[in-house]
Amino acid sequence: MADSNPTVFGKILRGEIDAPRVYEDEYCIAFKDLQPQAPVHLLVIPRLHLAGLNEADAGQEALLGHLLLVAAQVAKEAGLAAWRTVINTGAEAGQTVFHLHLHVIGGRPLSWPPG
Ligand code: 5GP
Repeated sequence: MADSNPTVFGKILRGEIDAPRVYEDEYCIAFKDLQPQAPVHLLVIPRLHLAGLNEADAGQEALLGHLLLVAAQVAKEAGLAAWRTVINTGAEAGQTVFHLHLHVIGGRPLSWPPG
């Protein structure tokens, strides 16, 4: 079958690149970010390849809710009481990998607003 997900996260999902997984189920996986911006920095990604939130539609409503609940679960399991989730959408907003992902960041004070 043709590779319909050439992104680095597609490679992680297929096991072509190692990433330390902290959670997985039939809909998504969560793993440690390669370049953590905080003591805890996890990424939650759907198995379904959506380039980003702009590509999601009502058919993915349940999946998007699931990703949020998994983000909260992995944050709790990482011992975080206070944490941030971020979804960068589009290159100008900082998105570098075009497979939808939720950052879960915590373990240090986080300022607001972000730069
Ligand atoms: P974005 O900038 O698209 O919102 O976030 C992409 C994130 O993916 C970055 O925080 C980056 O460090 C992470 N990342 C990129 N390549 C890899 C990789 O090969 N393995 C892991 N674990 N994280 C990666």
